Formats: sequence, C-alpha cells, structure tokens
Amino acid sequence: MVTMSGDSMSDAIATRNGMMTSMLEKLPDDEMNVEIQTMMDRLFAEPLRSDDIDIVRIQLGRYPRGMVAVGARCVCGRPLAVVTRPQLSDGTPFPTTFYLTSPEAVRAVSHVEADGSMKQYTALIENDEDIRAGYQRAHRWYLGFRHALAVRLSDSEEHISGISAGGLPTRVKCLHALTAQALVMGEGINPIGDMVLERVGIEFSPSVCRCAPVM
Ligand SMILES: [Zn+2]
Repeated sequence: MVTMSGDSMSDAIATRNGMMTSMLEKLPDDEMNVEIQTMMDRLFAEPLRSDDIDIVRIQLGRYPRGMVAVGARCVCGRPLAVVTRPQLSDGTPFPTTFYLTSPEAVRAVSHVEADGSMKQYTALIENDEDIRAGYQRAHRWYLGFRHALAVRLSDSEEHISGISAGGLPTRVKCLHALTAQALVMGEGINPIGDMVLERVGIEFSPSVCRCAPVM
C-alpha cells in the first residue's frame, strides 16, 4: 500500500492521470483513487478472453452480462471473480461490481453464511471501532473502483450512486459480495471479506486449486 501526504498525492495524481485529475479530485479519498487506478490498469492490461467468458458462463449457468474483466483467478488460471460494468448494455444499472463466480468459492462462502457467522461479523462492525472504520472504508474503495470503471467505460452511475454491495457500509448481508471484493482488490481492503477468506481456507483458497476437473 502506497502512503503519501495529501500534497504529494495530488502531484502523483496529476502526473499519472493528466486529464483525469479534476474528476478524481471530486472523489472523497485521493490516495485511494491512485491505488484504484493502479488496480484497474492491471485488470485491463489483460484483454477479456472468450475462453474466460465461456468458463464463467459454465460457472454461473448463464451468460455473464456486463463482464468486463476477470478480477481474480485461481492458481490454475480459472476465473474466481469477475468485474461487471456499472451499466449493462441495455442500460440496466448494475451496482455489484465484483461477482464471485467460482462454484467452489461460492459453496465455501455459503457454508460460512449458513453457520451463523453473519451475526458475529455484524457484531464486530457494531462493537469494534477499527473493523467498523475498515468496513466503511471498504465501501469507499468499492464506490471508488466502480466510479473509475464508470469513467473508463462511459457508464452512468445515476441510479446506483452511493450503493455498493454485500450490506456495505453498515451491515453484513452477502458474504459472497464481500469476499469477491477481497479477492479482486486484495487483502487489507475489506476486513470482513478478508476474515471470510481466512475462515474458508480449508475449503477454498485462491492459492490452492480445488477446481472441479471437468466443467
Ligand atoms: Zn483452479
């Protein structure tokens, strides 16, 4: 994680993004947005491949509408989570930017949801100041990423302004959405997503391939 003072951060944004500067300055956290641009550049450096779309189609049992990038991969290369554009091609607003597609990951996270952990996570957000702050920050990371995506793709965010996913920033409603954010954006962004990944480690991990051999 890059940490810079406000002034040097503004300089960095001006240097790195040129014309983007004025737009980014309107966002709540300049430092975050520099990181987000880096993440996004990395994701879009790899063009979306038709074989990835085919795999995700099989994983979900439907065509992944609005998929613009593979957000995270298993060590074997198979997509684990995808990035979806903020507005589908028919104009439908789509707030859920990070979507967990790996059946093994979905199943593992469902087990955590079913074992009553949601209440524990909710209690943590209510009672632990650091986790609460981290969770609120995860919401801003989410919105910042989606905004950068909307700018890049010229998508409208009109109908999803301020809406992220998974219950962010104050509730825990869908661990799949939170885990997808943790997988795509990396460790240290969403404290609950990180905890879920740690918890499911025996059943699912991005660094241990447990993908079904035949799809
Ligand atoms: Zn795998």
